[in-house]
Amino acid sequence: MNNFLEALESLHLTGVRVNYFFVCPRKLWLFDRGLSMEQHSERVLLGKILGEESYPRERRRHITIDDLISIDILDNLVQEVKHSKAMGKASTMQVGYYLYYLRGLGIEREGVLLYPRLRKRKGVVLTEVMVQEIEEAVREIGKILKASSLPKAERKLYCVRCVYSEFCFG
Ligand code: SF4
Repeated sequence: MNNFLEALESLHLTGVRVNYFFVCPRKLWLFDRGLSMEQHSERVLLGKILGEESYPRERRRHITIDDLISIDILDNLVQEVKHSKAMGKASTMQVGYYLYYLRGLGIEREGVLLYPRLRKRKGVVLTEVMVQEIEEAVREIGKILKASSLPKAERKLYCVRCVYSEFCFG
């Protein structure tokens, strides 16, 4: 494993954490401190159920790498199932991070975001721009997770649907 992948492992940088960083750094910090209410949220469950039911199990393979990256492969593509396009950037960067991690292991893949409820899909390719964004994000995530204080709550459209909304603004 190269140094950068070791750094990702030391941050315990899962795809979900990358996703949360792009949604809201405060959400990432809260989740990192063990306030993982999202695991029980209906949206996460819905995503899992949609993924299970919408695509035939025999064509999907679930792989866990280094106890850190947990991905589904469908038709040779790294797939991520989402129930809505609302968090498009965060979802794209989550898949981009998986592709980036795989590249670090010498494996080149492309990805796909699947929206079964919308009957849509969106391809994800690891471009050089995305690589730079991911590396910048990793540096920022490192700073956020090491910080002893909680990032400031900044109200955004997503807050009304966030599991921490009462904690932040209640
Ligand atoms: S409620 Fe808003 S500010 Fe608070 S963690 Fe969620 S997204 Fe971030």
